[in-house]
Amino acid sequence: MPEGDTVFRQAAVLHAALAGRELISSDFRVPTYATVDLSGRVVERVIARGKHLLMQFGDVSVQSHLKMEGTWHVYSRESGGRVQWRRPAHTARCVLRTAEHEAVGFSLGELHVLSPAEEEDKLAHLGPDLLGPDWDAAEVARRLLAAPQRSIGVALLDQRNLAGVGNVFRSEICFLAGILPSRPVAEVPDLGRIIQLSEKLLQVNRLRTRRCTTGSPTAGPPYWVYGRGGKPCMRCGTRLRRGELGEAELRKAAVPDRVIYFCPSCQT
Ligand SMILES: [Zn+2]
Repeated sequence: MPEGDTVFRQAAVLHAALAGRELISSDFRVPTYATVDLSGRVVERVIARGKHLLMQFGDVSVQSHLKMEGTWHVYSRESGGRVQWRRPAHTARCVLRTAEHEAVGFSLGELHVLSPAEEEDKLAHLGPDLLGPDWDAAEVARRLLAAPQRSIGVALLDQRNLAGVGNVFRSEICFLAGILPSRPVAEVPDLGRIIQLSEKLLQVNRLRTRRCTTGSPTAGPPYWVYGRGGKPCMRCGTRLRRGELGEAELRKAAVPDRVIYFCPSCQT
């Protein structure tokens, strides 16, 4: 599932291919923007902001959110012929072409063309970005503690507290901190450690093609608990549990996946 690390990596790939280049065509395959034409505009930069991806053109930005299935691919047009996409054409939502490259956004959960003011508005709710220049651990602690009775597993997913953590990372962060995800924020003995772990996990994974929280990305299971319900804990052997957490709160925030994994013995 795409989280802050995935979006950071895709933004870096798109930036390397598109920044400083002029679009020779754009094709928005969503009704709202079907008539938008960005050809002739130069891509200033492509950045990630939490789980949002922004292509900035100066007076306009293309903002996208990958949600569950979305992805951006960059194809080289150097061969001159028609580019062979690696995903079905009917899932393409946005196609941007320069002389050298074709960038295609597939199955995007969200796609908007925004003015700079609209972009600011759209992202104003986000807390400090785990992978951004505005990262501020003290501010994250302040925001988390503003709702002390909320469970830590829900608070970590709320992008208003910190931007970038998704469902995979919240399970892994709680496991590594030894904290049950259902525990209220106020009862987490070392909140600073949870925040530090969140940053570390996102940082080490931001340029990896295969996400991993257990150590080596090439050998063994990539996660301690996520997706391993019913299997033995790699630390203590106890059968890992799969549950749902913060249903009402998360539904309000439109988080589609509420599943959480934990070890009932390592986490208290
Ligand atoms: Zn365990």
